[in-house]
Amino acid sequence: KGKRLALLRDADTRTRDGTTIALYANAESPADVAQARALGAAGVGLYRTEFLFLQRKEIPSEDEQFLAYRDLVLGMGGLPVTIRTLDLGADKADASGLVLDDEENPALGVRGVRLSLRHPQLLAVQLRAILRASGYGPVRILVPMVSAAEEMVSVRRLLKECARDLRSAGHEIAEHVDLGAMIEVPAAAIALPGMIKTLDFIAIGTNDLIQYTLAVDRNNDHLANLYDPLHPAVLKLIAQTIATAERAKRRVTLCGEMAGDRRYTALLLALGLTDFSMHPGVLLEVREAVNALDRAQLRAQAPSLLRAPTRARIERALASLGSG
Ligand code: PEP
Ligand code: MG
Repeated sequence: KGKRLALLRDADTRTRDGTTIALYANAESPADVAQARALGAAGVGLYRTEFLFLQRKEIPSEDEQFLAYRDLVLGMGGLPVTIRTLDLGADKADASGLVLDDEENPALGVRGVRLSLRHPQLLAVQLRAILRASGYGPVRILVPMVSAAEEMVSVRRLLKECARDLRSAGHEIAEHVDLGAMIEVPAAAIALPGMIKTLDFIAIGTNDLIQYTLAVDRNNDHLANLYDPLHPAVLKLIAQTIATAERAKRRVTLCGEMAGDRRYTALLLALGLTDFSMHPGVLLEVREAVNALDRAQLRAQAPSLLRAPTRARIERALASLGSG
């Protein structure tokens, strides 16, 4: 299997009927970036910046962050990179005292953009560092845990201020940097039609979308059987999100674990997804799966997949789509 996959390093990712599919990498370290590049990723679809903040006492300075983001951009050699603003909180605690330690329900608490907006100075430092890196190659900014349009309005306002300040201080930054939201809270998925005009792109975070839709802790082993990517409610939200993005002509990436699991490749193609982002270690497997599938045939099956009332029925339908 290793040899067979190695042959796919330089191959295109294209369905049998000729649609090019973009496979981006999720990354959080220089090693991930090197691997993504070596395996022919289309870019970095999700750069998790938390690792810069974890296991240390001080918050990284603007210059330290800038150097990390610039190295990421240079490491990808001109391919697009999507940098996510800090997603601390809940399962991603830190040592620098930013994350509250007295929350009864941290997963429903101050995490992601909520934490960033409580510390606008901290968010500004991160946005400035990302904007400075945008002078070195194509960069997009992605905001985690968005549940309301107002949060994106606040982030965009701050982003504009940061860009203006950097330009007047003589920094060369990109003329425009796309700003997008993670769709990982059910409210954001449901309210997306009213909010999409304010977003340049979106990224579906199924890890959290499943957790919050099904009210099942993503890390609770006792509930592993209920943490179900194939729950009809989850599929509906994913399908609606992709369709809303398509209607508004916005790019949509799916960057949860589902994107890198070849059992779901046919399903996601059926729901209309063309941009996947995954751990680089599974990129070749997914490329192999995509290249064996016929997108038009799968698209035609979407309505019946979305009508299936149970996991078992969805699995049966998937088996007949030739996935896995
Ligand atoms: C997600 O929630 O699907 C996601 C990609 O983000 P994270 O796993 O970092 O929460
Ligand atoms: Mg998430």
